[in-house]
Amino acid sequence: MTRIDDLPIREELRGKSPYGAPQLDVPVRLNTNENPYPLPEPLVERIAERVREAARELNRYPDRDAVELRTELARYLTRTGGHEVTAANVWAANGSNEVIQQLLQTFGGPGRTAIGFEPSYSMHSLISRGTGTGWISGPRNDDFTVNTEQAEKAIAENQPDVVFITSPNNPTGTAVPAETVLALYEAAQAAKPSLVVVDEAYVEFSHGTSLLPLLEGRPNLVVSRTMSKAFGAAGLRLGYLAADPAVVDAVQLVRLPYHLSAVTQATALAALEHTDTLLAYVDQLKQERDRIVRELWEMGYEVTASDANFVQFGRFEGEGGAHDVWQQILDRGVLVRDNGVPGWLRVTAGTPEENDAFLDAVRELKKEQE
Ligand code: PMP
Repeated sequence: MTRIDDLPIREELRGKSPYGAPQLDVPVRLNTNENPYPLPEPLVERIAERVREAARELNRYPDRDAVELRTELARYLTRTGGHEVTAANVWAANGSNEVIQQLLQTFGGPGRTAIGFEPSYSMHSLISRGTGTGWISGPRNDDFTVNTEQAEKAIAENQPDVVFITSPNNPTGTAVPAETVLALYEAAQAAKPSLVVVDEAYVEFSHGTSLLPLLEGRPNLVVSRTMSKAFGAAGLRLGYLAADPAVVDAVQLVRLPYHLSAVTQATALAALEHTDTLLAYVDQLKQERDRIVRELWEMGYEVTASDANFVQFGRFEGEGGAHDVWQQILDRGVLVRDNGVPGWLRVTAGTPEENDAFLDAVRELKKEQE
């Protein structure tokens, strides 16, 4: 049998594993930060209508520049982000993963480097590798906040071409204050200058506000977003960025022509028509997230302050560490995530019933340990 490593693949891919959380068939799945609520029926109907219209023209290529979609995304950002943007400031792709890939293809690449402050979203380093960009792992404090001084130092020393700041951060839930982002932007400009990407995949769940207003007067700053979380549309694959129009022009140099299918554009436009209904679930999920934090604390677990739709909890020291606990929770029918952060696990806020199932499982575990 031919194995991957028998193939003439790129050296840096040898022996590596693809990204992917286990997709196991268990009753309660709280492991990939999805929104637990299916799209409301009127929206499903509207999607069917818009896709039917799009289907009549599938013999043609889609709008390569996705102008209508970018206009609606800009309208959403302007309404909710505290900063006015237009279609010229917005670019969309198949999930924010593709946005990140296009940014790294444009601003990273062979002979260049990117830095992130870890633990953080592992795809930043994996897409860096995939695009031939060197990866630098920057530090965090013990409480998972970004240490501004140490981060500035890491930027000054390494002179990266791309700086990732994830706020709220995955898997820890930690938000990054605007002052820190500003300080790191200044450090990145003094060092190179380099592109600073603020990954706001979870910002709608935050106690605070978006960092979008920081775009003003900062052409090397990018804010990336997704419809996978707050909009409850992970299956749609629609991510987007807001930045100076020059950044939007720059990513055109690497994007595949017609990368966003007509079906994707039609579906995303339908979802954006229902923004208010979809965002109503966000308030509910925030309340549930806060309840999970509270109840875990009351049980005696350590919990990282969360601004996202998930909660990092621990600590699980000793032999099997977090992974054993992950298995014990799974044995009780609840799938959470072991992100490989020693001593910690992550649980996504689901429906109240799913969260109850999770909380009952970990309460039971706690009792057994006592
Ligand atoms: N950024 C962060 C921080 C994430 O956690 C995720 C998804 N897990 C993404 C980006 C990618 O999301 P998508 O490609 O679905 O937009």
